[in-house]
Amino acid sequence: MFRHSDPEVLVVGAGPVGLVAALFLQQHGVRVEVVDMHQRTTQHSYALAIHPGTLRILDEVGLSEGLIGAGRKLTKVAYYEGRERRAEIDYAALASGHPYLLILRQSLLERAVEEALRQRNLKVLWGHRLQSLDADDDIPRAEVAKLDQVATGYPVARSEWVVLGSETIRPAYVIGADGYDSAVRRMAGIEMEEHGAGEIFSVYEIEAAGELPAEVRVILDPDLTSVYWPLEEGRCRWGFQIRDAKEHATSFERLEQLIAARAPWCTARPTQIYWSTLGLFERRLTRSFGNGGVWLAGDAAHQAAPVGVHSMNSGLVEAHELAERISWIHRAGAPPSLLQQFATETHEAWQGLLDAGGVRALPGADPWVSQTAARILACLPASGDDLEPLLKQIGLTIRLRAEADAGA
Ligand SMILES: Cc1cc2nc3c(=O)[nH]c(=O)nc-3n(C[C@H](O)[C@H](O)[C@H](O)COP(=O)(O)OP(=O)(O)OC[C@H]3O[C@@H](n4cnc5c(N)ncnc54)[C@H](O)[C@@H]3O)c2cc1C
Repeated sequence: MFRHSDPEVLVVGAGPVGLVAALFLQQHGVRVEVVDMHQRTTQHSYALAIHPGTLRILDEVGLSEGLIGAGRKLTKVAYYEGRERRAEIDYAALASGHPYLLILRQSLLERAVEEALRQRNLKVLWGHRLQSLDADDDIPRAEVAKLDQVATGYPVARSEWVVLGSETIRPAYVIGADGYDSAVRRMAGIEMEEHGAGEIFSVYEIEAAGELPAEVRVILDPDLTSVYWPLEEGRCRWGFQIRDAKEHATSFERLEQLIAARAPWCTARPTQIYWSTLGLFERRLTRSFGNGGVWLAGDAAHQAAPVGVHSMNSGLVEAHELAERISWIHRAGAPPSLLQQFATETHEAWQGLLDAGGVRALPGADPWVSQTAARILACLPASGDDLEPLLKQIGLTIRLRAEADAGA
């Protein structure tokens, strides 16, 4: 069933994070197998922005250039309170090889990474589900089932999955990149912890007539968040946080009502809704990013509000880190503590982001910005070393007070 009878790393999940983990492992010469219980990459835009820091990492596998060609570069993120423009962050000021945000549908990112894997002769094993994982031994034992979709049902046609067979493998490492309801996480006995209330968003991708501003606009009303993303010419995405899923409706009337109430500055009128969905975005973080031979990355380890596009972007960085450290340990005899260090540092960074205690206003910051600092951080599409210089533009910092005093 497997291409390698003895993969060194089994990646469970071929979403963006699992695909990128496999690409970096391959790049480091590690034998890797990727399995996914579904049949193909996503067809939707879902997480639609790539942070500058993520692009720098994707440069290492020669992916950024193609992605940039397929996406749209934006340099500004503006923060509104209703009609009032309160703050603006300019990515062009970043000292980075990619001083911009790349708007790119998740489906295009996944397709590009899968194609890069194919060119390196690594095929994703679609229709393969992790059935069980024993992580107690030094070497994990994973059982993977090959699935087939069969048509059943009469008179109403439907389909169901049947197991064609299963195989047990003993890779040195398992990377759980298997998303929200991670089987790897559950089977390894790792719990998730809530970090605040989840947020429900009504999402609309539309064609519109009129001026569509060429910047991301985040609207932070007293208790609800909305976001506008320009897409390709004449198209944009709106995301509106709502209190109850029942408030969602895929209709022009509802969309126009939301735009008028939340974004009164918008003059462009929707002419077509070509995709709409309702999403519940929880704020959860794994208790641990892993141990021994089993490690987690991406939505398997964390979920966050959608506007900052943090879960996917950080997941891609985690995939890169895990692949690099595993190859150093496995190939070059580096100490296994490198992985524990990854787990501790990544957990701390996520706690800072989700608990929002990590951001504070610098002297002289605008009062609205100071009061809204935690929400601004949660809605800033950037990560890692780029966060501090971007936040500083509007008088915020994530540096510890002692650290800032020492550096001043
Ligand atoms: C409707 C919707 C809208 C979204 N909008 C946004 C947004 O605006 N902004 C944002 O930041 N994020 C958004 N997201 C979230 C974003 O899509 C995720 O953060 C991203 O997909 C995480 O990538 P991942 O690779 O970690 O996990 P996933 O993309 O979830 O991939 C996990 C993969 O693991 C596979 N898998 C699961 N269990 C098993 C198993 N037992 N065996 C084998 N394979 C398995 C699944 O089939 C899946 O392909 C949205 C998601 C949805 C569903």
